[in-house]
Parts: sequence; structure tokens; C-alpha cells
Amino acid sequence: MLELEHIGIAVKDLAEANKRYEVLFNAPPYKIEKVENEGVTTSFFKVGRTKIELLEANKPDSPIAKFIEKRGEGIHHLAYAVNDINLEIKRMVDEGFELIGNGPQKGADNKLVCFFHPKTMNGVLTELCQNQ
Ligand code: ZN
Repeated sequence: MLELEHIGIAVKDLAEANKRYEVLFNAPPYKIEKVENEGVTTSFFKVGRTKIELLEANKPDSPIAKFIEKRGEGIHHLAYAVNDINLEIKRMVDEGFELIGNGPQKGADNKLVCFFHPKTMNGVLTELCQNQ
């Protein structure tokens, strides 16, 4: 693992949340991006060496919509940068961690991403990401 790449926060209303976080960071998001295959729109703020990713569902069956329905807004996942996502997936799966889906997919911010289920990660949805 290289570093904590970003923290994902599930929000109901991205435009409203962006305004709030713009005040906190005294800077606008450096990127707003729709990720069709994940059913989300995201915005990114730089915070020192890491980032905050705000996530809004853009369809009712999006994982973010389901998360907010169950648990409300809040921290959704932690993302760690890796050099070789396929190698890390193999290593983690061999150790018994539960991968969601079948391997890396295209995520936001020009990354290949994968997620490990919270039930094998002490309750925290865990993303690995690799620069493309
Ligand atoms: Zn993320």
C-alpha cells in the first residue's frame, strides 16, 4: 500500500455538499465526474496529500442510494493507492478477503479501482486504486 488515497463520503445532494465543503476547504472541487458504471457523480477536493471524494447517487439502484437508505449520509469508504491492483487483489483474495465484483474496473479520477466487502474489513468498505 502506498498511502491513503482518499476518503469517500456519501451525500444526498452533491451541489449542496460541494458548497458546504468549499467553505470548509476554502477551495472548489478540482474535479466533478460522473461514473456511469458505478451509478454515481463524484466531486474531489485536495486535502494535503489525500483527497475527499463526495459521492451522490445518480440512479435509485446505485450502491450509494442503497447505502444512504440504510445508514444515512456519512463516510462510505476508505481508498488506498496501490502500484499493481491485480497483484493486490490476488494477494487479498488468497488471504480470504471478499472482493466485490470480479476485479478492477474503471473508477473516478482516472483510476482502476476495486472494493473489498466491509464484512471482511472490520465494517469498512475498502477501495484499492491504481493510477491508469
Ligand atoms: Zn473512492
